[in-house]
Amino acid sequence: MQTKILAPSSGWLELAKKYIEAGEVVAFHTETVYGLGANAFSDEAVQKIYALKGRPADNPLIVHVHRDYDITRLIDGEPPYAALLRSAFLPGPLTMVYPSKGKVSKYVSCGLDTLAIRVPSSPAAQAFLREADLPIAAPSANLSKHVSPVTARHVYDDFNGKIPLILDGGACNGGIESTVLDCTGEIPVILREGLVTREAVAAVAGDCGVYKMKEGERPKSPGMAYKHYSPRCKTAYFPRSRLDEAMACYEDEARSGSPCFLCESAVCALLRGFETLDLGGTPEEMARRLYLLLRKGEARATLLIGIEPSEHGGVMAGVLNRLHRAFGVET
Ligand code: AMP
Ligand code: MG
Repeated sequence: MQTKILAPSSGWLELAKKYIEAGEVVAFHTETVYGLGANAFSDEAVQKIYALKGRPADNPLIVHVHRDYDITRLIDGEPPYAALLRSAFLPGPLTMVYPSKGKVSKYVSCGLDTLAIRVPSSPAAQAFLREADLPIAAPSANLSKHVSPVTARHVYDDFNGKIPLILDGGACNGGIESTVLDCTGEIPVILREGLVTREAVAAVAGDCGVYKMKEGERPKSPGMAYKHYSPRCKTAYFPRSRLDEAMACYEDEARSGSPCFLCESAVCALLRGFETLDLGGTPEEMARRLYLLLRKGEARATLLIGIEPSEHGGVMAGVLNRLHRAFGVET
C-alpha cells in the first residue's frame, strides 16, 4: 500500500471519508499529537488500529468528534460540572471520560463501561471529523511504546506502507497527549496529565482530583500502566544536582558512541562543548519540543542523557510524566 501525506483539501477530505467508510485507518493532525483514526462503530476497523500499532488489547481508545457532534448519542448522562468544562475547554486538548451508552464498538473501551471523548481544536482535525461525520476512534499514531508523533513525517516513519493516508496539518503545537479527565464521579479526576491542568479544571469545576493507582488495583486508565514514549537508543537520567556524574556518563559513552544531552535551556548553557538538544525554557515550550527532540535524539545519538527540568507545577506535570516514562524513571 502506498502511504500519501497530504494537506487537508476538499478532494483529500472526501478521500479520507471514503477510506473511513471502507473501514480503513487514516492518520490525522491534532493540536496535541497525530492520531490514527478509524470508524468507532466498526469492530473490524477499530481492531485494525490495535493490530497496526501492536497495542495491547486492554488499552482503550479515545473517540474523536467534531465540535457540533451530539455526544448525547454516545454517552449516558453528564454531571453539571462536565457541561461547564466542555464549554470552557472544548474544542481543545481535554479528553472527557463518561458513562457509555455502548453504541460504539466494544473494542474502543476494552470492556470498560465508560467512553473517552475528545473534540480536538486543530482545523485539520475538525475538517476531517466534520467530513467523516462519524465518531473516530484514535490513539496516537505511533507504534506501541515508541515516541508519539508530532509531525506527519513521524507518522510516515512508523506506518509507511501500512496506512493509505496521513492528513498533514503541520507540526503539533501542543506536543503532548490530551489531559484525560474522569467525569463519572462527584468531582472530575485527572487520569492522565496534559495541557489542560488540574488548576484550570478546578477553577471551572470547583474541584479536581488526580488519580493515583493503588497497589494491585486495575488501573482506571489502562494506558498509564504501560511503559511508553521510549526513544530507540540507550537512555540515562540525572537530577540537575548530579550534572558532574551526567558529564562523566557522557564522556564514557563518547569513547565508542555518540551521546547527547536532552535538557532545558538553562542547563544547555552550562554544557558548552557537549552535544545537546534544547527543550526550551517554559513548560509550554518543553511540551511542544519533547517528542520532536526524543525522535531527533534517537536518530542522532547512541545514548540520550536527560536532565530533570527545574519547574514542576501546571503544564510541567504532564511534561514530567512523559519525560519520566520515556527515560524509565520511577516516580
Ligand atoms: P493514546 O490515544 O494513545 O494517548 O491513549 C489513550 C489514552 O486514553 C490511554 O491512556 C487510555 O488509557 C485512556 N482512555 C481511553 N479510554 C478510556 C476510558 N474509557 N477510561 C479511562 N481511560 C481511557
Ligand atoms: Mg499513545
